[in-house]
Amino acid sequence: MPFFVINVVLPVPLRRFFDYLPREQDTAADFQAGMRVRVSFGNQKLYGIVLGTSTQTDVPTNKLKPILERLDDIPLLSSNDLELCQWLAKYYHHSIGEVLEHFLPVLLRQGASLSEADERVWQSLHGTPDKKLGAKQEALWQLFSHSPLWPHTELTKQGFSSAQIQSLAKLNLLEEQFRLPVPSTPLERQKALSLNPEQQHALTILQQQLGSFKACLLEGVTGSGKTEVYLQLIETALLQNKQVLVLVPEIGLTPQTVKRFQVRFDVPIALLHSGLNEKERLQGWRQAKEGHARVLIGTRSAVFTPLPDLGLIIIDEEHDGSFKQQDGLRYSARDFALVRANKAQVPVVLGSATPSLETLRNALDGKYLHLKLNQRAGNAKPPTLILQDILNQPLIAGFAEPVLAAMHTHIQNNKQVLVFINRRGFAPLLACQDCGWQAECSHCDARLTLHQYPPRLHCHHCDWQQPIPNTCPQCHGHQLVDQGLGTEKIQEYLTTIFADIPIHRIDRDTVSGKKAFDQLYEKINVGGAGILVGTQMLAKGHHFPDVTLVVVLGTDTGLFSSDFRGLEHSAQLIYQVAGRAGREESPGEVWIQTMYAHHPALNLLLEEGYHGLGLNILQERHAQQMPPFAHMALLRSECVEQHLAVQFLQQANGFVQQWLRHHFPQAHTAPIRVLGPFPSIMERKAGRYRYQIQFFTEQRPALHALIASLVNFLDGQNNFRKVRWHVDIDPIDTL
Ligand code: ADP
Ligand code: ZN
Ligand code: ZN
Repeated sequence: MPFFVINVVLPVPLRRFFDYLPREQDTAADFQAGMRVRVSFGNQKLYGIVLGTSTQTDVPTNKLKPILERLDDIPLLSSNDLELCQWLAKYYHHSIGEVLEHFLPVLLRQGASLSEADERVWQSLHGTPDKKLGAKQEALWQLFSHSPLWPHTELTKQGFSSAQIQSLAKLNLLEEQFRLPVPSTPLERQKALSLNPEQQHALTILQQQLGSFKACLLEGVTGSGKTEVYLQLIETALLQNKQVLVLVPEIGLTPQTVKRFQVRFDVPIALLHSGLNEKERLQGWRQAKEGHARVLIGTRSAVFTPLPDLGLIIIDEEHDGSFKQQDGLRYSARDFALVRANKAQVPVVLGSATPSLETLRNALDGKYLHLKLNQRAGNAKPPTLILQDILNQPLIAGFAEPVLAAMHTHIQNNKQVLVFINRRGFAPLLACQDCGWQAECSHCDARLTLHQYPPRLHCHHCDWQQPIPNTCPQCHGHQLVDQGLGTEKIQEYLTTIFADIPIHRIDRDTVSGKKAFDQLYEKINVGGAGILVGTQMLAKGHHFPDVTLVVVLGTDTGLFSSDFRGLEHSAQLIYQVAGRAGREESPGEVWIQTMYAHHPALNLLLEEGYHGLGLNILQERHAQQMPPFAHMALLRSECVEQHLAVQFLQQANGFVQQWLRHHFPQAHTAPIRVLGPFPSIMERKAGRYRYQIQFFTEQRPALHALIASLVNFLDGQNNFRKVRWHVDIDPIDTL
C-alpha cells in the first residue's frame, strides 16, 4: 500500500493541523476532506476533521500514530466550507481547530452521528384493533385517525406514556420510525403587502442582483418597511429554488420579526439561536445542510451553517454590536457573510436605519449598492424630535416639567410612553455622605450598581454581587445615599406620579430568554395607556403600535465617550429608540433630555437625521485616519499580575519595532501606525489587569503579515504562561 498520512484538524488552540497514519484496512480514497476521525492526542482521545491526505510529512515516521476510527462515510463539511474555515483562521489569526468548532454543532464535535438529529415518530399500520382497547389506548388510537404520523415527544406531551404507545405497537397497530423532523411551517399565512414606490424600486433592483455577488445597503428610516422588502426578495429567491440565510441581532429580543418571516412562507424555516438545546441545534443544522430548510433565520453563529443552495443573505440591523463575537474567535458575522456571499456568488442585503459607518462609507464610495427608503410605510409619519435643555432646570423624578406635561398628555390620549435610560438597576452609585466612600467592585476599576429588585450591589462588568451595607464600611456612618438614575428608580418614581396605569420595566433583569419578551409584548400590545421604562433592549426594532411618545434620558455620557465609536453608537441608539414612536396612524413625538442642548452632534442628529450626522462623523474619522479610513487591529494582554501584562506587551512591541525596521528601513515609509502598550480604559476587570497595543494601517496585507509574524513569535514565548493574550482584527470594542 502506498504511504500516506491524513491531515487532521483537532479542537486545540494550536495554529496548525496534525498528521496521522491510516489503519491497515484504510486506503487514501477512504478519506475525504470534511469527514470526522477519532485520534489519540497526548493522553486524550479527540475528534478531528480531515483536511486531506498527503504522501509526505515532516513528522518522523516512528512518531506517527494511526487514527483510531473514521466516523463518516460522507463528508460533513464541503471543500467550500473548509476553504472558508481556512480563510477565517488566516484572517483572524486564530487556530483552525477552534475555527472549525464554529462550523459544527456540539453533538457532532462530540462524535454523535447525524441520525441523532432524528426524531422518533410513530406511524399507524392501517390495522384495526382485534380486541377491545382500554380507554387511554382508544384515545391514542383515535389520534392516528387524524394523522398517520406522530412524533413520540408530541404524544407524551399529550399525556400518553411510553408503555401505552408500546402496547399499541405490540398489537401491530403502530410502527416506530426515525426521521429528521421537518422544520416548522406555521398554518396561518400572511399575504404580501403592496409596496410603496420606494419599496418597489428597492425590491426591483435587489431582485436583479440575485445570481451573483453584490453587497447592498438598504438604508431605510425606522418603520420604512425594510422587512417587507426582505420578505418579497426572499420570495423571489425561493422561487428560484434557493436557500436564504437571514441573520438577526438577538432572536430572544426580536420574536416579532422572526414571526413575520415564519407566517409568510410556505417552506420549512429553521431557526438557530442560543435558546436551543444541543439536539435542536443539530436538527436545525442538518435541516439546513441537507436542504430541507429553505430559510434559515439565526443569530451571529448561524453564518457558519452549510447551505448547499444558498442564494441570498440578509443581515437585519447590520449595525448591531451582537454580530461581532467578543471572545475566542473574534469574528464579525457581517464581514464574514460578505466573504461567504462572494464565494457563493450571491447578494448580501445589509439593512439598517442607522448603518455602521464602515457600511455607510462603502455605500457612499459605490462599493456597495445603496438603496434608500426615506419614508415610513403605510400611513405612519416620521416622529418629531425635541431637545429639552435640563441645565439648571429643576427636575421632578428625573424629568423636566415640559417632558412630564407631554407624558400626561399622551397618557390622557390613551397612548403609551416609552422612557429610555441606558442603565439598569436602581442607581449607578452608592456613596457615604459623611466620608465620601463609594461602593466599588473589588475585582474591577468600576463602581457597583445599586439594585433593589432584588436588593444587592452588582458589578455590571464582572457580575460580582454583594449585600447592600447598612452603614458605611469606612466611617460606620449611617448616611449612605444612592446617586443617579437607573431603570428601577425611574419605574418607582413614575409609579408615584402615574398611579393607575401599568408601568413595565424592560431590561436584562426583567427580560431573560425568549418567553419573557413574548409575554411582555402581549401585555404591552393589548394597548391602552401605559409606560415602558427600559434600556437599549428597547432599541431593537420592536413594533409597539400604541407608543406615541419616546423620552430619552441620560444620553450625555455617550456624547463624551472616550471610545472613538462612542458618538456613532449613541447616535444609533437614540435614533433607533426614537424610531419606536408613532409607528402607526398616530404621530410620534420624541423628547431628548440633555445638559448639552447646544452640542453640535445632537443638533445635527435632530436636523439631518442619522445619515447627516454619520457623514459628519465620517469626515472627522477621515481627518484622523481612523476606521473606516484605516484598518485596525489590537493585541491585548490580561494578567492578575500587572507587571506581567505590561512586560508581555513590551516584549511584543520590541518584536513589532524590529519587524518594522527590517521591512521598512526608512521609518517614515512604514505603512503601519503602532500605539501603546497602554492600559485599557478599565485597567482592571474581573481581577485582571488589561493592556493593549493598537495597530492602524491603510494596507491590510502589510498589517496581516506583521500580525502573522507577531503571533508566531508570541506563540513561542514560554516565560509568560500566566498572561492571557489575543489578537482582535477589526475590533469594535477598543477600550
Ligand atoms: P422597518 O423594518 O423598516 O422598521 P417594517 O418592515 O417593520 O419597517 O414596517 C413598519 C410597519 O409598516 C409594519 O407594521 C409593516 O407591516 C408596515 N408596512 C410595511 N410596508 C408596508 C406597505 N407597503 N404598506 C402598508 N404597510 C406597510
Ligand atoms: Zn463613610
Ligand atoms: Zn467587577
